[in-house]
Amino acid sequence: MGGTGGITDMPVTESEALATLHRVFGYEAFRGEQEAVIEHVVAGGDAVVLMPTGGGKSLCYQIPALVRPGTGIVISPLIALMQDQVDALRALGVRAGFINSTQDFDERRMVEAEFQAGELDLLYLAPERLRLEGTLELLSRGKISVFAIDEAHCVSQWGHDFRPDYLALSLLGERWPEVPRIALTATATRATHQEITQRLNMPDARHFVANFDRPNIQYRVVPKTEAKKQLLGFLREEHAGDAGIVYCLSRNSVEKTAEFLTRNGIEAVPYHAGLDAGTRAAHQSRFLREEGLVVVATIAFGMGIDKPDVRFVAHLDLPKSVEGYYQETGRAGRDGLPSTAWMAYGLNDVVQQRKLIQSGEGDEAFRRRAAMHLDSMLALCETAQCRRGQLLAYFGQDPDPAGCGNCDTCLTPPETWDGTVAAQKVLSTVVRLKRERGQKFGAGQIIDILLGRRTGKVIQFDHDQLSVFGIGEELSEAEWRGVVRQLLAQGLIAVEGEYGTLVLTEASGAVLRREREVPLRKEPKRPAAARSASGSGRGERKAKTAAAELPEELLPAFEALRAWRAEQAREQGVPAYVIFHDATLREIATVWPTSVAQLGGISGVGEKKLATYGEGVIAVLASLGGPPGATPAPADPAEAAGPDQEDWPGMDAEPEPDDWI
Ligand code: ADP
Ligand code: ZN
Repeated sequence: MGGTGGITDMPVTESEALATLHRVFGYEAFRGEQEAVIEHVVAGGDAVVLMPTGGGKSLCYQIPALVRPGTGIVISPLIALMQDQVDALRALGVRAGFINSTQDFDERRMVEAEFQAGELDLLYLAPERLRLEGTLELLSRGKISVFAIDEAHCVSQWGHDFRPDYLALSLLGERWPEVPRIALTATATRATHQEITQRLNMPDARHFVANFDRPNIQYRVVPKTEAKKQLLGFLREEHAGDAGIVYCLSRNSVEKTAEFLTRNGIEAVPYHAGLDAGTRAAHQSRFLREEGLVVVATIAFGMGIDKPDVRFVAHLDLPKSVEGYYQETGRAGRDGLPSTAWMAYGLNDVVQQRKLIQSGEGDEAFRRRAAMHLDSMLALCETAQCRRGQLLAYFGQDPDPAGCGNCDTCLTPPETWDGTVAAQKVLSTVVRLKRERGQKFGAGQIIDILLGRRTGKVIQFDHDQLSVFGIGEELSEAEWRGVVRQLLAQGLIAVEGEYGTLVLTEASGAVLRREREVPLRKEPKRPAAARSASGSGRGERKAKTAAAELPEELLPAFEALRAWRAEQAREQGVPAYVIFHDATLREIATVWPTSVAQLGGISGVGEKKLATYGEGVIAVLASLGGPPGATPAPADPAEAAGPDQEDWPGMDAEPEPDDWI
């Protein structure tokens, strides 16, 4: 112990950063790498931060901006979200502003004046602004505490989010060498990481890589049969009334899926680059402000969306890479509450994506890279091991060898079987069709032949005369599709040309010669049942997931607090989570504070929110007549009967034929 001086019993003072976390944000402690990052930047160092979505990147620059003298400049490409980000900060009592093209002249002038007068803690700018000499001049007229470069992977030319404007950001270090810079991204690969450091010219930056695990997200992959109906079943059984994102690859399927969900009683809006900017902005804003809206989108949607209560992310088409999949699924459950990443994936996805790569733009190196990405994605889909483990290993982290206990393969371990003979049957059929010069046949024809089906196309080409005709009657069509899909994923068969013709690969020979065994995963008869890690069967209740793990008797309080919050949000024109997160409302319902001071101890209730909403929250609780126990809780309306799954009204009975192969 030190203490040679006279002051012996002075309390250990908390750091200014921690004090700010408590006072402004109302949070108890830093998470993971946050503390180390913040200390480093507060001390003036540069940092490159890799943290998964929901990991808490914002605090890494917001707190240094509050602690260091001057204004923190945040460079973000997400113009459409700046207003919400600034609103959320102001609700915390932080002096924040933004400058972008959505403002009129007067608004901009006001923010500029505030900055110059030193009245802003944080100023958000789009990267293209920094190309304007006017902006640089403005910045040199004020004092800057830190530069934060958000979504820093946009500097990477390999990523799909590449923005040329990001390349100009290297000038910040030249022009303001004394101001620390922090670059942040959720894109995790080493290559991207290096590219960020290089292109932003931050050779001395310290690198922080957070744990990429998102334990509250349950990862599941189901074999695709009728994608839209499967999605509907999933939503009705597990996520009724929840907000979520559904990703599709094409604009057309985005539109159709949104329509289908709406027709079946699930409110959904489309979002893709083909819609005009006004519609897109309106749909995004509804998603942020309403509770329980579903957005059906192409990958154009979601980057930077900081809605904390997205309860599910569903993929109706196979994503092109594990990075993309991870980013997209990471948008679920930022609040740490249970969430689901669900994907329907089938034979057509594999065939179509392989075709796209072959016929697509780009040079050979580009194609090879795309094929590598696809292979990793397929390996993730077809694995019989823990999916989270595969994901973490992909990002260079060590998974728990015992499995995660919260993915479909851990919850319902898939059975494997010896598929060598089945594989030989498929490959032999491919060999025989190859002899028919000039004719091109996809998986559909091969499966028809194996099953001994005399379809028009089988008869037309005399395929019922082949020795392989009808030799596969021991498996169902779905099972054969599973076999072909897995052979494609394992590279034992390939797709060629416009029609998705199946062809042999170099590896096929070993299988045909019986030199290689082919273990396959059994197709589940039904999609993996929904189960949470605790096995509490949260699918049975129609209540929102956010409330699901709350004891029954606390639900009325939780719902009353949500209703109060919705009213506040409406009055102020901000999303509900800007007032309080679900997690905070849950804690309030659980703790049942009876005084404003007691409320201040709850996570997510900082100084400003306590002052603004303290009385209101206490009044809501008081109106309920005290915590449960004193009076019997009213019946839970959410226990109402769930939907009858045998008979979904208005359901589109048309199967989606996979007829394009
Ligand atoms: P990211 O930008 O990395 O996706 P955010 O900065 O939006 O993540 O943080 C995700 C959520 O976690 C937010 O709701 C945020 O308020 C919350 N959060 C961040 N840090 C902490 C912390 N130390 N304690 C409690 N909640 C936190
Ligand atoms: Zn697992």
